[in-house]
Amino acid sequence: MDALPAGLVADAPIFEARAFRLSPFEAALTARARHFGQRVLAPRAARWDREASFPIDNYRDMHAEGLLGICIPAEEGGLGADFRAYCLTAAELGRYCGATALTWNMHVCSTLWTGALTEDLEMDSSTRAEHRRRRRLHYDTILSQGKIFSQPFSEGGAAAAGAVAFGTTAERVEGGFRINGRKIFASLAGHADTYGILCTEMLPGEKASRKNTLYLGVPADAPGVSVTGEWDPLGMRGTVSRTLIFEDVFVAEDAALMPPGLYFQAAMRWPHMFLTLSPTYMGLAQAAYDFCVRYLRGEQPGTPPVQRRMYPTKQIAVAQMRVMLEQTKALWFQAITEAGPDPTREQMLRALAAQHTVMENAQAIASLAIRTCGGQAMLKSLPLERIFRDSRCGALMLPWTAELCIDRIGRDALYEKGETDQ
Ligand SMILES: Cc1cc2nc3c(=O)[nH]c(=O)nc-3n(C[C@H](O)[C@H](O)[C@H](O)COP(=O)(O)OP(=O)(O)OC[C@H]3O[C@@H](n4cnc5c(N)ncnc54)[C@H](O)[C@@H]3O)c2cc1C
Repeated sequence: MDALPAGLVADAPIFEARAFRLSPFEAALTARARHFGQRVLAPRAARWDREASFPIDNYRDMHAEGLLGICIPAEEGGLGADFRAYCLTAAELGRYCGATALTWNMHVCSTLWTGALTEDLEMDSSTRAEHRRRRRLHYDTILSQGKIFSQPFSEGGAAAAGAVAFGTTAERVEGGFRINGRKIFASLAGHADTYGILCTEMLPGEKASRKNTLYLGVPADAPGVSVTGEWDPLGMRGTVSRTLIFEDVFVAEDAALMPPGLYFQAAMRWPHMFLTLSPTYMGLAQAAYDFCVRYLRGEQPGTPPVQRRMYPTKQIAVAQMRVMLEQTKALWFQAITEAGPDPTREQMLRALAAQHTVMENAQAIASLAIRTCGGQAMLKSLPLERIFRDSRCGALMLPWTAELCIDRIGRDALYEKGETDQ
């Protein structure tokens, strides 16, 4: 591993290997990601944020590190990380550049959901063999050429929340599918090589149904694909989440990232798949806390070595932040540890509570850090201001927005499945 720049002290792990009983694989992978994040991602993060530009240089370097293939099964040439190993690694990257970690999550999910996760789902043997053959085509482009996938699902209606079928449609035509529709907030728009879209397969004589959701990889240069609109948001400015338009776009059969019906099965049976947006924000929560401690100790690079730690009010604020951070880590670690197929009702409630806690606490910790450190700490020359804005966006991520988590926890805690008031 290349050394950290002179004068930089290596950060401690978010989840210390011995304390959290990480496997040797998880310990090594997270250590590698932390070192990479501190050395490569952190110094560049301000630029992507200022320009609202996509962190393409980071992707080139992540390819060289093997990180684009983190969840591609080892026997297919990737690092073979499972759900938890991925989440822990992503949290370490999120500490140093939220926009890179969040967009990388979109890319990684195209391999995690089609890889390890599908091993827990039901398919007959010929469908599974065909699925493995197809995913291998996509994995090979990632591993050998550093191709990047994105995950544009949102459409501006209720589909991304899981309430109705996607409005983007796919019709079967000779040799493949014809796609029409529009995706908003499509991170990596204009930068991914393949857009992994969710759309509804329109079957003759049938109404649009969530059961007929298809997960298709659309090449960015396919005729009929265009990118429109601006991306000038509050935070996560480097995600470049513009609008994608699909007008009579043809994709071949092999564009199917999952066989028909499998995405619906995954969403029903492996719902922790939607927790994958949270690691970025777990990392941001840690970053806000770390900044505050360094700043109050007079050790934050780029600031004068003035100590402020002796004031009781600062100590109380740091204690509050630490309590919130420990609560967030503990709940999130439990949720990512127990993730798997067919969770119990208790596990589902915990997963939603974990998502809500990470998203809201990352923002609360960053906000408290700004108040505690004071005016000089919120200048754009320092990372806390960016962490504060980036962390605000976590609660808005569908399908598990902070609001929707509360909605579901309240309802599911009070009603058994199928129970009504009549
Ligand atoms: C930085 C960033 C990057 C993103 N990247 C991607 C991406 O790559 N791919 C992608 O698909 N999406 C992405 N999103 C989109 C995100 O998931 C939301 O779709 C997006 O914020 C737009 O949705 P909205 O808040 O306008 O949704 P609206 O549908 O207007 O919902 C507003 C709020 O109402 C609530 N709500 C929504 N539906 C329901 C319902 N049925 N019942 C009850 N309450 C409901 C939710 O709490 C929601 O936050 C990204 C968002 C951000 C902030």
